[in-house]
Amino acid sequence: MTDDRVAVLDGIAAQVRLCTLCDLYKGRTHAVPGAGDYHAEILFIGEGPGFYEDQKGLPFVGRSGDYLEKMLALIGYTRDQVFITNVVKCRPPENRDPLPDEITACKPYLDSQEATMNPLLIATLGRFSMNRYFPGGKITQLHGKPRIDAEAKRAYMPLFHPAAVLRNPTLEPQMAAAFKSIPALLEKVREMRGGNAPASSSSGGSTPPPPSKDKDDKPIQLSLF
Ligand code: SF4
Repeated sequence: MTDDRVAVLDGIAAQVRLCTLCDLYKGRTHAVPGAGDYHAEILFIGEGPGFYEDQKGLPFVGRSGDYLEKMLALIGYTRDQVFITNVVKCRPPENRDPLPDEITACKPYLDSQEATMNPLLIATLGRFSMNRYFPGGKITQLHGKPRIDAEAKRAYMPLFHPAAVLRNPTLEPQMAAAFKSIPALLEKVREMRGGNAPASSSSGGSTPPPPSKDKDDKPIQLSLF
């Protein structure tokens, strides 16, 4: 599969792996640009890599990844049919929260991933990614309550972080209910886009949405800094 989108997203990943824009690069084993289907309808955004993610260079491995896969299975998806990334691409030491200046330094990578993929739905996992789209919002109040941006023809769904649900299993019914609402939400956005948005597939069996364009109607290029 070769198209502009693949080239741009591969380019972003390559830059992330060499990035030294914030101090998190000093402690990383591997940067974690993100993984999944470049043509996915759903972009999941977590907080930052943990121990196992840093070891493997992949997002959401270990128990949180297993839990995310379990939730995806509720709606008939596998992790290969979505794209998963984080607000910071390198592991904060001792799994601490990412700092504001680290999130700011890493933001252009996520901005470019989002613009290039142009997903139907952005699902945030935890408060740091939620704050990108729901500034000042509280995860306990906003979890499972999507917002549809009619202009962008895109939905945003705030979700608990899987690790939070694993720590507090009483959140599980709310998490499952939010995931189960995703297919109807996707259908609504597909209709807004004219009903021809793709079914997500990494196997090549779907038609991808058009690459994002800038205001001069050119494909978005990787021009981060
Ligand atoms: S967290 Fe982001 S900005 Fe910081 S070094 Fe890693 S890739 Fe660069």
